[in-house]
Amino acid sequence: MPPLAALVLAVALSLAPGPRTAPPPGLLGATVPVGVWPLQPRPEVVAPFDPPDSPYGPGHRGVDLLGAPGQAVHAALPGTVTYAGRLAGRGVVVVDHGATRTTYQPVVASVSVGATVTAGAVLGTLELPGSHCFPRACLHWGWILGAQTYLDPLLLVGLGPVRLLPLWGGEPARAPPTR
Ligand SMILES: [Zn+2]
Repeated sequence: MPPLAALVLAVALSLAPGPRTAPPPGLLGATVPVGVWPLQPRPEVVAPFDPPDSPYGPGHRGVDLLGAPGQAVHAALPGTVTYAGRLAGRGVVVVDHGATRTTYQPVVASVSVGATVTAGAVLGTLELPGSHCFPRACLHWGWILGAQTYLDPLLLVGLGPVRLLPLWGGEPARAPPTR
């Protein structure tokens, strides 16, 4: 089995019904991509990941990062933009990475569907309407495997319960130049 398929299987198994607070044992030793924070400098996480028990159940399908209106929003991993527009009144950008995709909202997109982006590339700017921590501005950052298996995006920046290895999908993510 190729490593990527093994990882996908491991992630899927780790998300089987069970205690929601347990670390995903299926990810232990697996290769997980290393990404960059979508807001820079490193933002405060004001709402953690709380995966739903069922596809339509309550939960928080990502993390909320504190920012400021107009702040640049960066791609966490290299990929291809598959959505950039308004969805239910808020700006949404989705970047496809192959097996997974990352989502960013509310964002006024500066990229177009089909664009290839590097890790750290600017996707647009943070906007206030649709903020999950209104009246403050927050970026809701999601990481999705397959159709709708939600993962904790903090895994991508080394804050998850597993050790991260920079070896998924070939090219490791590079941090953007510092200003
Ligand atoms: Zn949120």
